[in-house]
Amino acid sequence: MTGAEGINFVTVRINDSKCNRCYECIDVCPTGALSLEQTIFIHNSYECSYCEVCMDVCEQEAIKILEM
Ligand code: SF4
Ligand code: SF4
Repeated sequence: MTGAEGINFVTVRINDSKCNRCYECIDVCPTGALSLEQTIFIHNSYECSYCEVCMDVCEQEAIKILEM
């Protein structure tokens, strides 16, 4: 999907069955696009810069970045 200003939005998908809840991904995200609400991961597409740092830091390979 393309936004009104021609921006492609992306989303971060976290595979719960692989995730060990180390929260490294949240700590390294430079824009604050990842956060937790209770124990649920929240990804803010508007804040995300698609840098892939969260995906790279995840030793469980639980993160995928998908274009929407
Ligand atoms: S870095 Fe990977 S294993 Fe750690 S909390 Fe994030 S998704 Fe889960
Ligand atoms: S891709 Fe980059 S900006 Fe987006 S959630 Fe991951 S670390 Fe944060």
